[in-house]
Amino acid sequence: MAQNGESNENQAGRHQEVGHKSLLQSDALYQDLRKYVYILETSVYPREPEAMKELREITAKHPWNIMTTSADEGQFLNMLLKLINAKNTMEIGVYTGYSLLATALALPDDGKILAMDVNRENYELGLPVIQKAGVAHKIDFKEGPALPVLDQMIEDGKYHGTFDFIFVDADKDNYINYHKRLIDLVKVGGVIGYDNTLWNGSVVAPPDAPMRKYVRYYRDFVLELNKALAADPRIEICQLPVGDGITLCRRVS
Ligand code: SAM
Ligand code: CA
Repeated sequence: MAQNGESNENQAGRHQEVGHKSLLQSDALYQDLRKYVYILETSVYPREPEAMKELREITAKHPWNIMTTSADEGQFLNMLLKLINAKNTMEIGVYTGYSLLATALALPDDGKILAMDVNRENYELGLPVIQKAGVAHKIDFKEGPALPVLDQMIEDGKYHGTFDFIFVDADKDNYINYHKRLIDLVKVGGVIGYDNTLWNGSVVAPPDAPMRKYVRYYRDFVLELNKALAADPRIEICQLPVGDGITLCRRVS
């Protein structure tokens, strides 16, 4: 690399000589990692609200901590919600509540979050921090699968087009089913964010690449979702490489 005194030309030559793309890939990955650490250390951790830091540290000790929203994505969600002046929101997939807290802190005092998860225990790990931050009154937590709740809301009729923002971060094999319902519930001009749309990078891996079992299982669902969102005329989309990939969908009709 030019930084360590080697010219770009020599560097390219070295890659050709090696004749194997893994070296090139690991150089590129190393650079990406350095950029990511730079973002975290420069712009994210120094500005992370105390409550979010506390919740991040509690979550880090939990055995399923891989599921948590990253600090940079939490910061992104918080900013996005403020930019769109979100007031009425929904979250599917809470875990210990890091993205939920990022949302709750962004909403006005009379803002609302309908938060759903099949597991209440993990939510209760984070709840004392959310309470201490003074934002628990914005949250209506429902324990159980989200799909029947959405069906009930659609049947009710009064929730159509009422949500400013919906964050989907749960069972990836149901994202298409969520989308069919959420497109009715989000308002025109409102935003749905589907999380993990790069699915551990597996969306660009060859099908025979080694993958963890759960990554392989959900991969096809994520690939299908990405195609379906890109082809859906009712939304404008923007897929961002934040966290594990988030696709923002703005309802236009
Ligand atoms: N947004 C969370 C955060 O910031 O930490 C992470 C959510 S975690 C990736 C996914 C969550 O979805 C898990 O807590 C899991 O219990 C929940 N989940 C799985 N299937 C679900 C379903 N059918 N309905 C609601 N929640 C579900
Ligand atoms: Ca996620």
